[in-house]
This record gives sequence, structure tokens and C-alpha cells, in this order.
Amino acid sequence: MWNAERSDRTHASDQECALSSLFGFTDWDVDDRPQVVIWEATRACALACRHCRASARPRPGPDELTAVEGEKLVAQVAAAKPQTFVMTGGDPLERPDLWHLMRLARTLGLRPALAPSATPRLTQEAVRQAAAAGCTGIQLSIDGADAKEHDGMRGHPGTFARTLEACGWVREAGLALTVATTVTRHNVERMAEMCALVERLGVARWSVFFLVPTGRARAQDMVPPAVAEAVLIWLHSIAPSVPFAIKTTEAPQIRRLALASGRPAPGRHGIGDGRGFAFVSATGDICPSGFLPLPAGNVRSDDLLATYRHHPLFRSLRDPDALRGERCGVCPHRAWCGGSRSRAYAVSGDPLGDDPLCLYEPQPAARGESAC
Ligand code: SF4
Repeated sequence: MWNAERSDRTHASDQECALSSLFGFTDWDVDDRPQVVIWEATRACALACRHCRASARPRPGPDELTAVEGEKLVAQVAAAKPQTFVMTGGDPLERPDLWHLMRLARTLGLRPALAPSATPRLTQEAVRQAAAAGCTGIQLSIDGADAKEHDGMRGHPGTFARTLEACGWVREAGLALTVATTVTRHNVERMAEMCALVERLGVARWSVFFLVPTGRARAQDMVPPAVAEAVLIWLHSIAPSVPFAIKTTEAPQIRRLALASGRPAPGRHGIGDGRGFAFVSATGDICPSGFLPLPAGNVRSDDLLATYRHHPLFRSLRDPDALRGERCGVCPHRAWCGGSRSRAYAVSGDPLGDDPLCLYEPQPAARGESAC
């Protein structure tokens, strides 16, 4: 299904907003502060998803941030003034002080969002509590076009049905609904069906994530580069015509398509791991991404914003000329693409190496020809 013929469908559109979301371009000063901060509120989760980044388990870990440390973390995030603060897990609904911390986040000027797991804890009452606590949006995962496919990936029967029901609760509560889909070898042939499904669900945004082999996710579950390229071209082609925004995650190669289509405007750059993005683990580690588990500090002893701004790891991830892979290191698109740093690290052990998902073969002479 996925082949190069799909490129014929690439076409221009006036929906700059949707395309910017798709490409992850931003005018945000990513050297100054993160645009998105994600907090893994706990690693506890009742599900056992095949591709879980967090390798979540049924009970919280012994060294997770306490209630008081959670309050201090929220205050640190508020000081960083990100555009979005996402409380994820594990399953954040496993955290007993979740609503208190969400209210605190809202009081301190943040726009908290929630990424819960579809377990029996996810009820209509829980969604109402989220709205009452100041939540601005909820992200739910759908990784299969039907119950058999989705529940197989999630490790629990009934998860698909619960997720569809919860989508209705989120809409009824007036919260922005995002559906996240992880693209793997197992579901890639049914992406068009999943697109139709998320449209029927009335989502505000479809977040399409390209697997990074971290946690329980395995490298053999990644789609081959040519298939990934075809999916990205397809997403590019449908973005102008679907009634929701599409966002890709860990697939910045799509920004090559932005260049080809002439939008967004030159001078804008993309966000990525450590570049406009910071992650705080359940134990307080400050990482460039949940898929790049290299701690640059810990909120118990280090300041989140100072670590983001000044730590050599974060700084190198924001420097396109620090890339040292044979392809990304010489690529003319490295300033606004740069490849998935998480996938480079997961596969090679070098966060500044090549992203194995990319099909592009830059010419070696291109190092001095950065696109920005
Ligand atoms: S080679 Fe690297 S920087 Fe260039 S398009 Fe591919 S992933 Fe992006």
C-alpha cells in the first residue's frame, strides 16, 4: 500500500495552521525555554502495552516524586512558562494528588493537559474532574483500526471500547480531544482506516507517532524508512482536507516536505527532543524527551529551566552543527529537521548520530549549506 506513488498526492493548501502543526515548526525561541514540558506523573499503569516507552508496571516505583516534590515540580514548570504542560505516565490517574497538582498548575498560569490510560480509572467522572481542575485537553491512544488490533497492542481486552467511549466524554466536557497513534509494522497498512476513525470521533488533533525502540518497544516493530516516508507523504497530502490538525512525533523528516511545498515560511524552525521540548520522569530526571532517557539533571536538586537552557546535552541537541552522523551531520535540512534524536540514541547509543528512519541521502559536501 505504501509506496512512492503517494507523492503524486502532495499538494498545496492555505491551511497554514494545520501544516505548521504537522511539521512542528514554531516561532518560539527554543534556546530560551521549552514550548512543551511533559511530566511522567507516575510509572504505575494497569495496562501492559507492547510498545510502552515507560515500561510501566502495576505499582508506582519506590522513588517517585512525593506530593510535596510534585508541587515543587509544578512551580518549576510554571517558572519555565511553556505553552503546554502535559501530565502523562504510566497512567497519571494512578496518582492520588493529580487533581490537586492540576489545579495548582492552572493557578500558576499553566495550561495543563492530560494523557491517561484507558483503564477502569478512566471514567466520565474522572474526565469531569479533569475539566473542573483546569485541564485544557486530553490525549487518548488508538493504535488499531478495530478492537482486536488495538487491544492486542495494549495487552488488555476492552481497551478499544473504553477509549471510544472516553472520546465522547472528553468532547462532552468541552475539552480538546487528541488521539495519538503509534505507527508500527503491525498497524501501518490500516492508517487510512484509523484516519477515518479519528475523524468520526471528532478529534481536534491526530498525533501520529513513529515508534522509537525505547522501553518495551522493539526495533523490529519500526516501519522501514521507505514506508515511513510514504506515510509522511500521505499525511502531508491529507492534512489540508481533514477537519482536524495532524501532528507528527519523532518524524521530523516531514519538514523536508515543508521545504518542497514552500511552507511554512523560511526562518522558522522545528521543535524536537531537547529543542523546545523537555521531559521530567517519575523520579524527577530532566531529559530531552521521554524517548531519550539521558538525564541532564533532576528536579530534586536542579532547576528545570536552567538545565534546559544550559546543560551541554540540551545545548547540543539545539545545535544542528553538533550532529555527527554520516547523513544528518552533513544534511542541508539539519537545521529544521535534524532527525529524531531519540531514535538515533535508541538504535546507535549516540543522540547526535543518524536517525535510521530517514530515507534521505545528503551529499557529503552539504555541511556548509544549512537550510536556515
Ligand atoms: S538526513 Fe537527518 S537531517 Fe537530513 S532529512 Fe534525514 S533525518 Fe533529517
